[in-house]
Amino acid sequence: MSNLNALQETGQVGTHNRWRVKDFLHTGIAGFPKEGMISIDVTYQCNLACTHCYFRNQGYTSELTVDQWLQWLENRRRQGYPFLICGWLGGEPFLRPDVLEQGIGYFKSNVIFTNGTSELPPWRNCTFVVSVPGLRDQYHRITGSKRATFDRVKAHADRKDVRVFISFCVTKPTVDLIASVIEEWAATAVQGVYFEFYTPLRGSDLRLWVDWESRDRIIGELLQLKKTYGDFIANTRQELLLMTARRYRTIIEDCPFRYVGASFDPLGRRKLPCAIGPDADCSRCGCILPAFAQILASRRRLVQALWNGAVRQFRAG
Ligand code: SF4
Ligand code: SF4
Repeated sequence: MSNLNALQETGQVGTHNRWRVKDFLHTGIAGFPKEGMISIDVTYQCNLACTHCYFRNQGYTSELTVDQWLQWLENRRRQGYPFLICGWLGGEPFLRPDVLEQGIGYFKSNVIFTNGTSELPPWRNCTFVVSVPGLRDQYHRITGSKRATFDRVKAHADRKDVRVFISFCVTKPTVDLIASVIEEWAATAVQGVYFEFYTPLRGSDLRLWVDWESRDRIIGELLQLKKTYGDFIANTRQELLLMTARRYRTIIEDCPFRYVGASFDPLGRRKLPCAIGPDADCSRCGCILPAFAQILASRRRLVQALWNGAVRQFRAG
């Protein structure tokens, strides 16, 4: 049976690398390992052309084959790589499902960041994060797609059998959509919506960038909405508070992702400082990554986050 058939029948890749109690204990005691959280650009190809995309500017025109990626992973396995968390990025990762199918079994946690234009496979040992940067009225203009694409993406994301979250990248033109975005998705089977802010490239114009004051206002709005929607707003309270201007500006002065994470391009080469690449304007970063990384890099915050996650899972049954 091929791995793909095995996944379709069981929802699990054969040699899935699972979290065990000893991993949580080890991480809680020894701290989160260097490169415990990595991102891989599965492909340089994408079928959309989003206005806020950093990736298309990076100009890749080739990528590793499946066998080369497997060799890459095996080499790291021999070097004792931690293989904890992998974010599978692109381009659009589902244009290379073969790499995903073979690769996700190596990691304990897999998050596949997709634009949702392809039907999601029935894989239960990963989380799908579907990027939807607007409501139906704006979506085609933001993504360069046809008008009908929003409904197709929504239908692909609205799945009970797999773990799907929406990611909404807030840009200046979409700052007033927060409450409507939550309402739109709360009526579906998705498990929640992550909000993050557009990160510009150095020297680019700032038409899409949400200034710090507006960002604080939106974070205040999200904290208020969390009283009604709870964990459906998937950013935790701890992450949202870290993302407020005063704290985030200090955090991104020395981005903690550098200490716990690493990003790799479609050719398997290290990409610095993160997936956004060397032109990232870190001083205006709106990604959620520094907040995650700050929690992972701080033992006290990590233990609190692990505990909160365990309580949430317990409450959810
Ligand atoms: S879907 Fe992602 S990779 Fe593709 S254009 Fe949009 S932001 Fe870029
Ligand atoms: S602050 Fe961190 S996550 Fe943000 S662009 Fe810079 S390196 Fe990337």
